[in-house]
Amino acid sequence: DNTINKIAAGEVIEKPASIIKELVENSIDAGATEISVEAKNGGISYIRVVDNGKGIQYEDMDKAFLRHATSKICSEVDLNYINTLGFRGEALASIAAISKIELMSKTAENEIGNRIYIEGGVTKVKEQCGCPDGTIITIKDVFFNTPARLKFLKSETREGIYITEIMQNLALSNPNISFKYKLNDKLVFSTKGDGDIKAVVFCIYGNQVVNNLIEINSSKEFITIKGYVGNSNIAKSNRNSQSLFVNGRYVKNKTITAAVEAAFKSLITINKFPFYILHMYVNPEFIDVNVHPSKAEIKFQDEQLIFKAVYHSVRDSILSVSS
Ligand code: ADP
Ligand code: MG
Repeated sequence: DNTINKIAAGEVIEKPASIIKELVENSIDAGATEISVEAKNGGISYIRVVDNGKGIQYEDMDKAFLRHATSKICSEVDLNYINTLGFRGEALASIAAISKIELMSKTAENEIGNRIYIEGGVTKVKEQCGCPDGTIITIKDVFFNTPARLKFLKSETREGIYITEIMQNLALSNPNISFKYKLNDKLVFSTKGDGDIKAVVFCIYGNQVVNNLIEINSSKEFITIKGYVGNSNIAKSNRNSQSLFVNGRYVKNKTITAAVEAAFKSLITINKFPFYILHMYVNPEFIDVNVHPSKAEIKFQDEQLIFKAVYHSVRDSILSVSS
């Protein structure tokens, strides 16, 4: 029922940036090594995501837009070890319910591709068409049939900033994937996809940050921390250049931020927010499961333990480069 999809869309799809996140995560799940994202007018009028992933067969095209128990999760245990990013099986159905969406896709085994066009949840066209291997999704007029939700969006500029933040984090957390991101016909960044996190940081933040980067690479029995920190000399009055990934997933956690800032402050005067991009790997048992997996905020069972680990890891790294 399309009403259910429209309501569900309210939960999954807060804003155009959430659509882009869901689409790119699907591309990643499909094994893409190149993903190109384009948005116009804060993503409200136009979004396009192109990938070179495994594609979708003709028979599976309608199914992709049905709310489903996703095939990407197999058991209760998986919920704690979310390796594939999509686990709700409702993103495409929700997006299709509140926009005009075209999906073109071709698998490597097939000669010809297929195209499906859905408007407000209603399939208007399904036909064969020529297209490259992979998937091309084009979305127009987000929330065109839910004016109340449209009204709740911020300005096009602000929605564009949300998209840029999402794209930065997707690129930073997937250095092996080549991303190309355009906003309002202007190339914002493109990454090589050669696995080099530092190169991705450079593409995104420019060399002012990269010149000051300090590498973090520490392993304890319960936690591995990798990435870069820097006392950014870019006048930053916010924490936008701080990214944390726990077990591959982008998350927010105030304790980590506090630990990095405290480590800097214990050694040098900083008046700006330090830059950091950290990948942490912990046993899922250390993560508080009471926080829903779809939430960006993460809690640890023992926040103090994690604070200490990050604090010492960052502090030791700063000391080792300054001595
Ligand atoms: P989920 O990702 O949780 O399975 P979605 O609604 O996000 O649910 O996607 C539905 C299905 O559509 C996916 O399970 C996948 O089979 C297919 N799909 C979506 N996007 C792509 C893509 N870019 N490439 C290949 N298959 C895709
Ligand atoms: Mg998905």
